[in-house]
Amino acid sequence: MKAPPPEAIGPPPLCGEITGRERNIPTLERGRYHRLHASGRRMARGWYDKAIQSFQADGAAPLEAFMFAWIALNAWGACVTDEDRDRAYVLGLAESQYLRSEFDKLRQTDKEFNAAVLQFAGFWPICDVRKLRELGLLHVRPEEEPRQSRVAFYLERGATVVAPECWLRHLAAGEDPTDWPHVLSALHRVRNNLFHGEKSADSEMDRSIVASAFQVLFRFMSSAELLG
Ligand SMILES: [Zn+2]
Repeated sequence: MKAPPPEAIGPPPLCGEITGRERNIPTLERGRYHRLHASGRRMARGWYDKAIQSFQADGAAPLEAFMFAWIALNAWGACVTDEDRDRAYVLGLAESQYLRSEFDKLRQTDKEFNAAVLQFAGFWPICDVRKLRELGLLHVRPEEEPRQSRVAFYLERGATVVAPECWLRHLAAGEDPTDWPHVLSALHRVRNNLFHGEKSADSEMDRSIVASAFQVLFRFMSSAELLG
């Protein structure tokens, strides 16, 4: 079969489990951020700066650093997709050819970043902490249990609401996707879990997971110069 011309080769479509029922995925237009009023850009940049300051002050407790980085991504993402809905702008970011290509390039050129991505993916899937609670699975395993056996325990007992959403299908097919859309899906779950946890930290907001998520998110935002 004749190969398609190079300009026709784009990134593969997002996995159906990631898009779900969302039919209107917004298109990302980076120029929107450059046209944003100066105080809006200053606020977004301020959250980004707070993220690194927070991490430098207390890298051992990276929850705040991760949240500041996510808020900065949220501000930029809502602006460049012109979309307020959390799920919609995240899908717009996931689908962006620009971000997918920048992410791939950075992995190829920056060994430390690539290692950070692989380390983060080593924690996957990230379970929905609400589902774990509903199934009575929170705080029932020893803290020191290795991640993979803990996740296997959760999955065996029905905790199948996970991120990336398509992870179980990929696993069954022997695939291991760690591109931008799958990484963003897992980052989004980490962010959501932070607001569904209880007073005592649970496995899905373990500091090593959140620190790893921060490294991936912040390094990517820095390298891609999302906030100018
Ligand atoms: Zn997938």
